[in-house]
Amino acid sequence: MNVLIVNAGSSSLKYQLFNTETKTVLAKGGCERIGEKGGNISHKVPEKTPYEKNQELQNHEDAIKLVIETLTDKEVGCIASMDEIGAVGHRVVHGGPYFTGSVLATEDVLAKVELCKELAPLHIGPSLVGIHACMDVMKNVPQVLVFDTAFHSTMPEEAYTFAIPREYSEKYHIRRYGFHGSSHRYVSREMIQILGKPAEETKIVTCHLGNGSSIAAVKGGKVIDTTMGFTPLDGLMMGTRSGAIDPAIVSFLMEKENLSADQINNILNKKSGILGVYGASSDFRDCRMAMEEKKDPRATLAIRMLAYQVKKYIGAYTAAMGGLDAVVFTAGIGENNNIIRAMPCEGLEFLGIEIDHAVNDGIKRPIQTTKISTENSKVQVYLIPTNEELIIAEDTESVVSALK
Ligand code: ADP
Repeated sequence: MNVLIVNAGSSSLKYQLFNTETKTVLAKGGCERIGEKGGNISHKVPEKTPYEKNQELQNHEDAIKLVIETLTDKEVGCIASMDEIGAVGHRVVHGGPYFTGSVLATEDVLAKVELCKELAPLHIGPSLVGIHACMDVMKNVPQVLVFDTAFHSTMPEEAYTFAIPREYSEKYHIRRYGFHGSSHRYVSREMIQILGKPAEETKIVTCHLGNGSSIAAVKGGKVIDTTMGFTPLDGLMMGTRSGAIDPAIVSFLMEKENLSADQINNILNKKSGILGVYGASSDFRDCRMAMEEKKDPRATLAIRMLAYQVKKYIGAYTAAMGGLDAVVFTAGIGENNNIIRAMPCEGLEFLGIEIDHAVNDGIKRPIQTTKISTENSKVQVYLIPTNEELIIAEDTESVVSALK
């Protein structure tokens, strides 16, 4: 089945056409500046020259129409007509307390997604606009919603509850939800296969380290804890996000600097993390270059902080799971940077972790699944390139197949 994977933002719409039989991407691209001046689409079919076009896009409906027009174009497209799209899979950031798996977008489901808006207004609002636009333009094509939070819904109460007055947690559904679910699900599934023992017996720490980063403890194939919380701000320091900090810093800074809730949110989400500590960039590559070539002390600190935090969570989750079979590194930073795989593992030999530095330092492109621990290492450490699209496409196909 060809599944069109859609990820709608407030003024953008990213897409991938994915074939579930061959597990390949037939085309991918995105529309930008929707509802603004200078709308455009960029589109790429493997083996063909990338294509770009400027076209005013008044709304998400215009955007999805342009996507379909481009996908079915004789020159730059890859399918003959919309009939070749079996289903649409929408990536939705937050499923709140309502969704523990992927679902068909029915009226009832969309009403519940509407309730999640309060939990992630910047993401859910645009997602809903994108979903409605696709439903309008592709009337006979089933639309499936895949939630970033769903894979974490197996966490026990003691892991997902925050110690604030119960009246607030209940009134506002405040709890740990966790994010990057499709990525943690994909890499843990791959790792379980590699371990070659029954899923129920496996204990894996999955480290998704990108612009946004999170770690999950996956015991018996199910998440028992994860670093992101009520929002994707919790846990590890990230490109521009602070990660977990003493919550009293929030009110302290608000008072001292006379900041509004929006302003402090902006500081913690957009100006902190690597950018906050290093100062010159939020990109790990720049930070690493500044550390290695200029011996920049702030860049060095930022990288040491991130590595330390990853190490701390590996230890914490090993304790939470009562053991450890494997650690997996994935996403932009985890896949492309040997130091962020090696540094957190230094000193963890007592846990049975031993990195093969020659292998870890010698990884070449294209990045492939690679074992980076030694043969003697009791715990297997792997780099596994993530594939969230595969999870979204597979889920979409299975929801649609169940309808028949
Ligand atoms: P997002 O969370 O936005 O999906 P990514 O997973 O793409 O982010 O991760 C972005 C981070 O990965 C950046 O900090 C960047 O430095 C790092 N990264 C991405 N590609 C490379 C690369 N080829 N070499 C080194 N670092 C990379």
